[in-house]
Amino acid sequence: MLIEPGMIVDLAPDEAGLLARATRMAGIGAWRCDLNEDRIAWTEGVYGLFGVDRDASIDRRDIITLYEEASRDQLERVRTDAIARRDGFTIEAQIVRPDAEIRWIRISAKYGAIAGQAGELYGLKQDITADRARWEALRQRADYDSLTGLASRGTFQRDFLDVAAVPGTLVLFDIDGFKPINDRFGHAAGDACLIAVAQRLRAVFAGAAMVARIGGDEFAVVTRGTLETVALRAEQALGELALPILWGSEILSLTGSAGLASPAIDAPQSAEALFVAADAALYAGKRAGRNRLVIAPRGNGGDVRYGRSIR
Ligand code: GH3
Ligand code: MG
Repeated sequence: MLIEPGMIVDLAPDEAGLLARATRMAGIGAWRCDLNEDRIAWTEGVYGLFGVDRDASIDRRDIITLYEEASRDQLERVRTDAIARRDGFTIEAQIVRPDAEIRWIRISAKYGAIAGQAGELYGLKQDITADRARWEALRQRADYDSLTGLASRGTFQRDFLDVAAVPGTLVLFDIDGFKPINDRFGHAAGDACLIAVAQRLRAVFAGAAMVARIGGDEFAVVTRGTLETVALRAEQALGELALPILWGSEILSLTGSAGLASPAIDAPQSAEALFVAADAALYAGKRAGRNRLVIAPRGNGGDVRYGRSIR
């Protein structure tokens, strides 16, 4: 049987004991707030959750201080609103217990009318700290590339391609002749190159809004600055990429190609259009012999300045 707020459950004494033990184990407790006097009552599970002694007297004004500031504001907002609407709410909130432990809790509430009185709010509080930690770990894994630690393709999509206002100049890098490194020295050597390239790009573009690995040997940098300063940085990065990489007793050498697209102030482009322009510039550089930077023309339309390099 699923027990929900509002449900009236008749339990035999042994069932009541079982329910108390099981809910304590699951970090769940029930609560009630008498709105006439703003007086709260908890079952044992909530005491455990808040790290408050079972015999302590509880006052809503004290308990509310255990909530982290943003959670407290949210709780007060949804609570006031629920009372006004004579309805319920569910929120996830962070608390800092008296023993300084941080917990995430899910609070579900329902309004109950009491004849001639202000009524009551009652519901459940459940410990969701472990769920939040798992969710945060998954989010981290999706946001960052596991090999290089750079932002992932998904992050690039969400924070660059999908945003309305283009946040800066885009430079795409692709390693030249990367397959032969894998073929000659093995996949682990290739991985070492990708890590080195990531470190070098991150160092050259230290203040950039984003440095991402968006494909096998493809990287994207989103950064502010004039076209000229970003182009100089990109040139510097290509110089750094060409420096030898030590891998065991082997010295690995590679070069990179880059395509740069900068949004025109008078003719703003979408992030997608900027990406297409930078990609076309990058491949123009590949066709022109690799190991170079190509700058896409600004604004909509127009051909890439094939083979242009400021090196
Ligand atoms: P080009 O100069 O035209 O860029 O040629 P390329 O040899 O670099 O070829 P391309 O960029 O098309 O190929 C990228 C290669 O990167 C293909 C794939 O085998 C390799 N690759 C993709 N992901 C990984 C990875 O995580 N580790 C390693 N070691 N290799 C990878
Ligand atoms: Mg390549």
